[in-house]
Amino acid sequence: MIHNDISFDTKHIWHPYSSATEPIPPCHITHAKGVYLYTNNNTKLIDGMASWWSVIHGYNNPTLNEAAITQLQKMSHVMFGGLTHTPAIELTKKLLNIVPKNLEHVFYSDSGSVAIEVAMKMAIQYWHANQKPEKQMFATIRGGYHGDTWHAMSVCDPDTGMHSLFSKSLPQQFFAPRPQSKYGEDYNPKDIIPFSQLFEKHHNTIAACILEPIVQGAGGMYFYHPQFLRELAALCKKHSILLIADEIATGFGRTGKMFACEHAQVLPDIMCVGKAITGGYLSLAATLCTQTIALTISNATPGVFMHGQHLWQIH
Ligand SMILES: *Cc1c(COP(=O)(O)O)cnc(C)c1O
Repeated sequence: MIHNDISFDTKHIWHPYSSATEPIPPCHITHAKGVYLYTNNNTKLIDGMASWWSVIHGYNNPTLNEAAITQLQKMSHVMFGGLTHTPAIELTKKLLNIVPKNLEHVFYSDSGSVAIEVAMKMAIQYWHANQKPEKQMFATIRGGYHGDTWHAMSVCDPDTGMHSLFSKSLPQQFFAPRPQSKYGEDYNPKDIIPFSQLFEKHHNTIAACILEPIVQGAGGMYFYHPQFLRELAALCKKHSILLIADEIATGFGRTGKMFACEHAQVLPDIMCVGKAITGGYLSLAATLCTQTIALTISNATPGVFMHGQHLWQIH
């Protein structure tokens, strides 16, 4: 019998981004409703972070509760290799209705970080299928965050991501400064110069450029000018570099448009979504790509996309 839950927690549970020996004591949450979290000493808190931007419909939402319970009574989970089910098909129809029109194929995975890994693997496999196996590197802007798995980490900001710690084992990617022109202010055409120089020099080895469209979330809620994204997309096309939009934080209406790419009317080749996709009910993410990418990968050796994930989902 544990008498003091918080001291047990402190002694044995290692929370995200925390010290095991001197953690900030966590709040003990007993239940949640709407925007509120309730602590075990009856304090009511507004969760301004919406559990890292995932709870877009509020906690304990009756519609989502009912969907989860109804689904659980049919089946909780089946593997997705070789099997399918109506919730997956219905979710995919809904997704394809709202994402940029050029995206036609959806690959599901279990977290945002994995959706990024999948996107990066897709880009490399695409160029391999196109007889360009030397295109294996990635370009991005500083200040980004794409997750904490290995390759996702390699395109996070090198300073906040502590790349120096992992320098011998992380792939070295290309970083350009983030645009100085802010959203809603004047655009400075110089913002794109570092990318045009980088692409000019290294396009032969760059598979894709990956970034968070318009808002860098973990990078300090940094809102940049849509013109930068438009110019970057054009540069990518010019140099045969795929554009990967990481909409894991910005997707599903979080920036005022359904997806942040729409602020710049840019069509990414690959797009990652996660977080709000389940309203915070469970961990699910998706990587979407164009028909060209899906067909190119599938028509070349080995003829399949080399990734497998479990799937549990509701709608
Ligand atoms: C949260 C986040 C990720 C990682 O998603 P997880 O589900 O936490 O692995 C990737 N990219 C962006 C922009 C994010 O905000």
